[in-house]
Amino acid sequence: MVNGFIQASYFVVAVVFILGLKAMSSPVTARKGIVWAGYAMVAATVVTFFTPGMGNVGLMVLAIVSGGAVAWWSGKTVKMTDMPQMVAIYNGMGGGAAAAIAALEFARGEVHGPVAATLAVLGALIGSVAFSGSCIAFAKLQGIMQKAWRLPAQNQVNIALAAVAVLLGLGIIMSDTPASFLVVLFFIVALALGVILTSPIGGADMPVVISLLNAFTGLAVGFEGYVLGNPALIVAGIVVGASGTLLTQLMAKAMNRPITNVIFTPLTGAASGGGEAVEGTMKEFSSLDAASVMRYASKVIIVPGYGMAVAGAQHKVWEMAQLLEEGGVEVVFAIHPVAGRMPGHMNVLLAEAGVPYDKIFDLEEINADFAQADVALVIGANDVVNPVARTDKSSPIYGMPILNADMAQNVIVVKRGKGAGYSGIENALFYKDNCRMLYGSAQQAIGEVIQHVKALEA
Ligand code: NDP
Repeated sequence: MVNGFIQASYFVVAVVFILGLKAMSSPVTARKGIVWAGYAMVAATVVTFFTPGMGNVGLMVLAIVSGGAVAWWSGKTVKMTDMPQMVAIYNGMGGGAAAAIAALEFARGEVHGPVAATLAVLGALIGSVAFSGSCIAFAKLQGIMQKAWRLPAQNQVNIALAAVAVLLGLGIIMSDTPASFLVVLFFIVALALGVILTSPIGGADMPVVISLLNAFTGLAVGFEGYVLGNPALIVAGIVVGASGTLLTQLMAKAMNRPITNVIFTPLTGAASGGGEAVEGTMKEFSSLDAASVMRYASKVIIVPGYGMAVAGAQHKVWEMAQLLEEGGVEVVFAIHPVAGRMPGHMNVLLAEAGVPYDKIFDLEEINADFAQADVALVIGANDVVNPVARTDKSSPIYGMPILNADMAQNVIVVKRGKGAGYSGIENALFYKDNCRMLYGSAQQAIGEVIQHVKALEA
């Protein structure tokens, strides 16, 4: 009776997870979707306490309270610009939790039959890779690990380590009660694999890796859900695994990099720069000039990037866009799929500032419009508007589709100085004849432009 109630509840929870995810596919309903999924997760957790024969209730409550407190505190205090690191580390926690479940089930001798053993081993392997790989991604995004390091014969080491992990996994599957040293060795090799796979990946490839690790975590959770006989975990894991896989494909397409290339021939741009030297000089612009050019334009396309996020300038940017619109200028936003430091980063910031969704366009939707725009205003973006991606075969970002900001009649770039983008390479756009640099932190620079636009109206 109780078991039936629990299973029925898990089923309802699973359905709500799917509905929540569906709602997240549109920015209009996304907040609702997250809240639904959150309530479903709380319900699944509460229901689990009714499982007959459940022990260690005190320990579980302690874990939930302490974990919940840390998550609550970090969610409230994390800066918007540090969100990608937080997502990376939380994703790693999911993978680590799945691996820990498998470890515990092996230690208790609770994995019975070849199917359960295979899924437990797969979940443990993928979860461990997701955990240690996400820790490396966190370290890179946080700036703790500056260089992407690559071993000599990296690919052979990857393959050898993966083969050892699979062999150890097979050993565990085939023995009824696997020896502790075998299980421990398996986890050490799996964790090392995550580190070795992720460390050489850097530069512009990071978005693909982050979503790939996310997909791994989902799969690992799904497999362990089967081992525990918990349908809510299976469905949640599969949903995360499937959506993570789709996101990985989208990110890889946005970078024009096959996933195999990301893993086996990583870019080394962040570490080494790379690409041909760019010639010419950058031409400076004042905030008054920028305000005048935009105020008397008919169409302005704004390209936000990581620098806008760092400066927290999205509210000022939207205020400026509204002022220009009041003066009869058409203003729209162009979002590159890998702008910022996490998938959807710019969409989140612009939505937070209140920019209506119908003013925000993806790369494919807007790229043809730059040629008809009077001004492309690039705010703290760099790699995503770098034209060497089209022309310089030796560049680490060669082949990545970029926003055609350089094709606008005038380009105004807001950034603090001559700093390179995430990939570490020079941007040829900044040296073009139609490009002017408005130096300053985005918030302050756009603030000045706003004052000048207001003065022009008066
Ligand atoms: P970039 O990181 O290429 O460039 C950001 C620019 O912003 C810098 O050149 C910097 O120049 C400028 N900047 C920094 N702070 C400020 C500030 N306070 N005010 C104004 N400007 C500032 O950003 P993009 O968004 O163009 O590209 C994203 C890059 O990050 C891509 O290479 C992508 O692959 C990578 N990436 C993306 C992830 C994702 O999921 N979206 C995840 C991880 C990496 P200066 O120092 O001179 O001010």
